[in-house]
Amino acid sequence: MASTKNVELNKSQNAELELPCIKCSGKTTHKVLVSVDIRGEETDGDWSLQWCDDYQIVECGGCKTKSFRNVSSNSEDYYRISDTEYEYDELELLYPSRIEGRKTLENEEHYLPVKVRGIYKETLGALNNNSPILAGIGLRALIETICKEKNAEGGNLYAKIGDLVVKQILTPAGSSILHKIRTLGNDAAHEVKPHSEKQLGLAMEVVEHVLNDIYIIPTKVDTEFGS
Ligand SMILES: [Zn+2]
Repeated sequence: MASTKNVELNKSQNAELELPCIKCSGKTTHKVLVSVDIRGEETDGDWSLQWCDDYQIVECGGCKTKSFRNVSSNSEDYYRISDTEYEYDELELLYPSRIEGRKTLENEEHYLPVKVRGIYKETLGALNNNSPILAGIGLRALIETICKEKNAEGGNLYAKIGDLVVKQILTPAGSSILHKIRTLGNDAAHEVKPHSEKQLGLAMEVVEHVLNDIYIIPTKVDTEFGS
């Protein structure tokens, strides 16, 4: 058995790729700034395997945010696209990982109370890293922390969400949505049942709206107009 490996610097430099951006919504054109491209081959008698492993620092053409991409493939992993054609199955990893089309609270996270911000960031990480059980538990923990931070009273989370409405921190419409997310976290914690990426993405969007309404906008208004 013999193996060869060839490391080339900047082979894919300036290449343009359509990738989901961390900040922009949807896919944008990213340019490869720097790359390390590795090509290898393993042979043993008649048998051979070729593989590629590319490491790239990429930049979004819109917001100029830099991130990291690794794409790998090998001659054994391919799928058929027609009777005579095959395509190699490429594994693409992006860091920080991202869900296409999801915008976050971005640069406004600093308006959140420290505890809320910590759980928000971890939940976002779980969501972006394809960890649906942890994301579900994180969403519930976020609601629990908001309730605690706003001194919501009640023997359980159900009652506490209700108290946020009484305290006029939350609208009745907002509370009914939080109840849905509360049960979503319940399922994740007690039955270890993951929810779909779509459900969790939507739930996160709702929680982000609540965070915006009760922390971010009031703080910005206070700063601008005085409390
Ligand atoms: Zn961008």
